[in-house]
Amino acid sequence: MSYFNDESMYREIIIDHTKNPRNIKKPNDDYKKAYLKNPSCGDEITLYVLYDEKENKVKDITYKVSGCSICCASASMMSELFIGKTKEEIDKIIQNFNNMVTGQEYDEDMLGDAISLKGVVNVPPRIKCATLGYKAFQKVIGDSHEM
Ligand code: ZN
Repeated sequence: MSYFNDESMYREIIIDHTKNPRNIKKPNDDYKKAYLKNPSCGDEITLYVLYDEKENKVKDITYKVSGCSICCASASMMSELFIGKTKEEIDKIIQNFNNMVTGQEYDEDMLGDAISLKGVVNVPPRIKCATLGYKAFQKVIGDSHEM
């Protein structure tokens, strides 16, 4: 019934984000950044986050990513999910995303297009590809849970 209940639809969403990554732009010096690599696959990401301390809000996210389609698509989906959110809201999203890819209970309403990545639960080497952007975000912002 749901638009999302279809594996080929998931694949199309992943392909769409890989071909047309969202929120790509040139960051200025106001963005905080972090670099992470996933040696098992060769994925690399530099994530740039514009965080407003006063409003406790992520104003903007952009990134440079190279690697497999799971990693690239996941970063794009994550940028859409996080922009405009508070740290606390993002913490919940990260927890739900992590639960999804590790086969635990999660709330798919919080995950937007990122639920198209739920198949990685069946492909353990890909979990690190899917979570690389999220780990980079935690590295930028600092104080969140380990994934
Ligand atoms: Zn990968």
